[in-house]
Amino acid sequence: MSIAPLDRSARTYVAGHRGLVGGAVLAHLQAEGFTDLVTATSAEVDLRDRGAVEAFFDRERPATVVLAAAKVGGILANATYPADFFSDNIRIQTNVLDAAAATGTERLLFLGSSCIYPKFAEQPIREDSLLTGLLEPTNDAYAIAKIAGVLQVQALRRQHGVHYISAMPTNLYGPGDNFNPEGSHVLPGLIRRFEAARLDGDPTVTVWGTGTPRREFLHVSDLARACVHLLENYDDGAPVNIGVGEDLPIAELAQLVADTVGYTGELVFDTTKPDGTPRKLLDVSTIHGLGWRAEIGLREGLAATVAWYREQLAAGTVRAS
Ligand code: GDP
Repeated sequence: MSIAPLDRSARTYVAGHRGLVGGAVLAHLQAEGFTDLVTATSAEVDLRDRGAVEAFFDRERPATVVLAAAKVGGILANATYPADFFSDNIRIQTNVLDAAAATGTERLLFLGSSCIYPKFAEQPIREDSLLTGLLEPTNDAYAIAKIAGVLQVQALRRQHGVHYISAMPTNLYGPGDNFNPEGSHVLPGLIRRFEAARLDGDPTVTVWGTGTPRREFLHVSDLARACVHLLENYDDGAPVNIGVGEDLPIAELAQLVADTVGYTGELVFDTTKPDGTPRKLLDVSTIHGLGWRAEIGLREGLAATVAWYREQLAAGTVRAS
């Protein structure tokens, strides 16, 4: 039976610990008293390389794995490099899942994304709407790769009886995010742009799209807590949504970012940029039923993320514009 507390002294591997999600999961596991944590940078183990992944698992034999390694990016990056998003993600997850099952990993959490659900799924999106309709074209290659991961987890459970599970987080944000203007998601993209405009005294800031699509935002520390909670309280092949249960239009989000950084100029919408899916609010009743809820509100989480970004700017680890 796998619904039980995780063994804090068992070897635990966080794949993708340099990323937004993996970094937060690693910090949470450390805070929770896990004593045998294993990580590897992509230079040490390229997870797209099957031989390298097999050798790593053969050597380390983790009992627990959080699979947070993935090629991720915002709407423009996904639309520009669909082949990379497809191939890198298929290879990373197939290699890690196969190697984990072959070397006796007992518990594993695979992280997907809310973009796996159909573009016009009924809102809020329930887990059982998976594969009931067509995908949003700006990120269909990434979505198909992640759907394949969910199916692989289910297949491994059926064929090998392993206790592996999948979770689908909504849009994430927080310290450690990617603030690169081309590759980032909307929240870090806007923080960077509004802060640069404030510092430069620019009269306007451009926001991509019409501003009408609605998005839900979960702080990555809340997600990290949810990951451990699911590993300890859930053992089924059906993916579980992780979100806050509330969303807001991009225009409102942009104003909130402007207010948080203290920018007082005007917002201009660039409708030549894609809107993406109109709405993707997750139904979070499954995870609420399992006893987990998001705790960090958007205003509070956004203020903390802006503070973190300013520290990075001051330290010279990111540029303002
Ligand atoms: P999505 O949730 O997969 O669509 O990914 P994003 O987080 O990249 O985009 C969410 C929404 O925010 C889309 O409608 C974008 O057009 C819009 N958006 C507005 N400004 C920006 C920006 O500066 N960067 C990004 N990535 N999206 C933006």
